[in-house]
Amino acid sequence: MKISNILINWYRNDHRKLPWRETQDPYHIWLSEIILQQTRVDQGLPYYHKFVEQFPTVRDLAAAEEQEILTLWQGLGYYSRARNLHTAAKMVVEQHLGTFPNTYEELLQLKGVGEYTAAAIASFAYDLPYPVLDGNVYRVISRLFAIADPINKPAGQKVIKQALADIFDDKNSALFNQAIMEFGAMHCTPKKPNCSECPFAANCLSLEYEKVDKLPYKEGKNKVRKVEHSYFFISYDNKTYIEQRTEGIWQNLFQFPLVEHHLNQEELMTELSHIMKPKAKPQISLFYNTTHILSHRKIDANFYTILVDTKPIFLKSNIFEIEMSQLGTEYPISVLTQKFLNKRNNDDK
Ligand code: SF4
Repeated sequence: MKISNILINWYRNDHRKLPWRETQDPYHIWLSEIILQQTRVDQGLPYYHKFVEQFPTVRDLAAAEEQEILTLWQGLGYYSRARNLHTAAKMVVEQHLGTFPNTYEELLQLKGVGEYTAAAIASFAYDLPYPVLDGNVYRVISRLFAIADPINKPAGQKVIKQALADIFDDKNSALFNQAIMEFGAMHCTPKKPNCSECPFAANCLSLEYEKVDKLPYKEGKNKVRKVEHSYFFISYDNKTYIEQRTEGIWQNLFQFPLVEHHLNQEELMTELSHIMKPKAKPQISLFYNTTHILSHRKIDANFYTILVDTKPIFLKSNIFEIEMSQLGTEYPISVLTQKFLNKRNNDDK
């Protein structure tokens, strides 16, 4: 039997029922694909439901305020996806009169839509013959054909693309794409592939050559940079003071005033004096230290609580006052800031 038929048979018997697989609506498929980039299905599913409910059409999403979108996105990480989502929705409304484009080339023009996402929407919504190539597909193909070329280098990607094109079923492109991605996610998994009950056990070359645990191969993985953050949680009468980030992966999210290194006692007082002028001596303590890991960064974060009993004067114009209850509800924050709030809430109980 052909590899594509084996895959499709396996999928028909053994796949998860997910809402974006029950529809051909390109808006819903696009939403799910953007949410699921760098996110597990179980984590992304509630976000998919929230977005579909709050923004039933691409016009609703385009008309929303960015802050509303970022607040809904909170906790998913990689916030550039949310900003791109908003820009792309506006592009669909302004350039395509609110109707999702239906060619691979036009889909590729949308902000945040790369080759993988364009192929996924083209095949799932319109059944166009474009094979998808995500991390799951790289793994399945490199193992099935024992391809040892590095999948994070153009030469290795070319070899995988060709092997995928050779087995792609262009008459059933949506089904084939769903099947190979699901097979990688559920059966040929990174750490414990189920080789003993695999429909490819007789023809999988990495199994035959005992290379399953060595594939896919990646050359020189990215180095994680260590950085230090010191945050000032300034608290006065159930209010706090925040600023909006203007750059980086947390661009447009809100945070407590930040200094991007650790501080000794003397530096702490100096930095604080650049931020605010208290009317009376504040109570300062290091409340929380945590390590937060992102794809390219390891952040060692200190959160200082600064308690004041009269409203301070702020020396930086970008810092403004909010009610504590608005943080994370009206003003979107990173998972790191959320960790601090959770710790604070738990300590209060
Ligand atoms: S035999 Fe193992 S490595 Fe090969 S495709 Fe099946 S699960 Fe993956």
